[in-house]
Amino acid sequence: MLDHLSGYQPKRKILLIEDDPSYARLVEILLEESDLLDCFITNKQTLEEGLVELQNTRDYDAVLLDLSLPDSNGFSTLEKLIFNFPNQTIIVLTGRADKELGIKSVKAGAQDFLVKGEFDGEGLAKTLRFSIERKNIKIRLEETQRLAKMGTWECNTGTHAFFASDEVYHIFGIEAIKRSFSCESIHQPGNPLYLLGQTHKEATQQQRIKKEARITLPDGSARNVMLWCEATPIENNAHVFSGIIQDITERIRNEELKKEKDLAEQSAKVREQVIASVSHEMRTPMNAILGMSNLLLNSSLDVEQISFAESIKQSSETLLGIINDILQMSTINNSRIEFEKEAFSLQKLLENFMKAIRYKGTEKNLSIELNLPNDLPPILIGDKLRLKQVLYNLVGNAIKFTDEGSITIDIEKVFQENQQVKLRFIVSDTGIGIPQDRLIDIFESFTRLQTKDRLFEGTGLGLTIAKALTEQQGGKIWATSQLGKGSQFYFELTFTSKDQLDKGTPKKKFAIPELDPQTRFRIMVVEDHKMNQLVVSKTLEKKWKNAEIMIANNGDEAIELLQEELVDIILMDIQMPGKNGFETTAYIRNQMPKMARVPILAMTAHVNITEQNIYSKKGMDDFVLKPFVPEQLFDKIAHYLNKRPK
Ligand code: ADP
Repeated sequence: MLDHLSGYQPKRKILLIEDDPSYARLVEILLEESDLLDCFITNKQTLEEGLVELQNTRDYDAVLLDLSLPDSNGFSTLEKLIFNFPNQTIIVLTGRADKELGIKSVKAGAQDFLVKGEFDGEGLAKTLRFSIERKNIKIRLEETQRLAKMGTWECNTGTHAFFASDEVYHIFGIEAIKRSFSCESIHQPGNPLYLLGQTHKEATQQQRIKKEARITLPDGSARNVMLWCEATPIENNAHVFSGIIQDITERIRNEELKKEKDLAEQSAKVREQVIASVSHEMRTPMNAILGMSNLLLNSSLDVEQISFAESIKQSSETLLGIINDILQMSTINNSRIEFEKEAFSLQKLLENFMKAIRYKGTEKNLSIELNLPNDLPPILIGDKLRLKQVLYNLVGNAIKFTDEGSITIDIEKVFQENQQVKLRFIVSDTGIGIPQDRLIDIFESFTRLQTKDRLFEGTGLGLTIAKALTEQQGGKIWATSQLGKGSQFYFELTFTSKDQLDKGTPKKKFAIPELDPQTRFRIMVVEDHKMNQLVVSKTLEKKWKNAEIMIANNGDEAIELLQEELVDIILMDIQMPGKNGFETTAYIRNQMPKMARVPILAMTAHVNITEQNIYSKKGMDDFVLKPFVPEQLFDKIAHYLNKRPK
């Protein structure tokens, strides 16, 4: 590549197509004598032989072509050669009377011409060497233009000469044999290079043009291009236009794709936020419905009323499950889930799980079987709640989509090494099955397969959540199935294994002592939602006859009441008009010395209150999630009231 700079000259290969043997010999001698070019010469005597030779040996640096050969004469000899080898360096040899032909040949694509009898060894070697180098530079330039998708053109209205680089033609999709244009032809509408002609017109008025345009290629496809053109006036009212054209289709397409992607991301975010806030808004009234049905069930009802109240409770629990799924889904999509690393016994977890799930199977007359390997590590470290959730989901689906037969849960040890154990959980059913081509889709949000004659309950979120929970823990989940025969769902998770629980690990569950029935105490409920005020106060009054419940409709009212009265514990809603729960807590802690240490429990439908202990950072002692489970609420209140200094 850098021959001309380093001074090193490789041996060149020259093909001489010349039928006169003595003339051919003369060329050889002249070149041998010259120091300017070191070369091999091969001589062929007809055009046909020359073409065959070029076909067989592709690395000739140049061809010296006599235009008068036995099988071809005149200008057409050159045309035939260029047609077959358009990139070949050709130097034409003409007779003394045919100088015009030589000039015409150069215009048609030959690098140079030599008049027989008028050149010596040095002239011949120089012509060959410069032609070869010029051609190499041209090839390199074309390569660069091809890479940059950028072509150059020039047009002289004085001489009518029009030149365009290969890349210009390439951008416009014009084949090599159709590349004959003049300064005039490109101004005619319908000409493939009409855009250049138009640009010249604009450049005459504005001197310098930079513009974007869209062109349609002969094959119907379209390209975006950027054009730069400058005009330089010359004598006799003529101009020289020089221009650059660049194919920017890809850039424009990428910009469009980026815009589409940004828009899609933006709308996905908005959608998630809407879903999250709508489901949050739904949890609040659900609190009232569930709480009221609990209260209703505890009042004196006849058998029929009990069954009505039971079904209200059951349906609201189902609805709450769906809302929770949607909420969890939006949490999964919006942020990374934090997983627990807690020691637990898989055996115990599965025993409890089986107890809970078995009755669901019995309702449909399905047996549920569990197979465990003998060498299961007794203690695993991981997120047991999430593990249970995935299992619950898969087994729940298996029961839902199976009418007869059985459900089997198999657990296999994939490997155990350096305290790492990879387990595979397989949930198999003998149910309706899933078509092969849908086995991947079912893990997508809101995908539910159509069944002709039946409608199954569900949101199409269970598997999406199960997939996110396993994959975000570095595991995987997949399914196999046979339509009408049953399905198998597999998931794999890696845990750290342990031989036994740490000695010091305290037993988590301990019975919270009941409150002394003699003591009287005051609970303040700060809550703006009337229905929820009623649910909480009724639930608490039913539980503790000696409790006095004070209701504050919002934070400001709570502060006002607390100026006059002292309370033993506060249940604080977070989202309220005026001062919200956090602000009210901060005020009590900092501005009300008498109440500064009162236990405050956040009451919220926002599941993410648990994340990073937001409630404790905001000065609260604990939280109760709405809709609350009455026993949990009682336990927490009792726990804090028992801690009061006696
Ligand atoms: P949901 O069950 O709430 O509709 P999932 O995400 O859990 O949502 O499941 C998505 C869909 O995959 C289901 O609606 C059902 O069409 C199909 N599917 C899941 N599990 C099974 C199974 N065990 N047998 C047959 N089809 C199943």
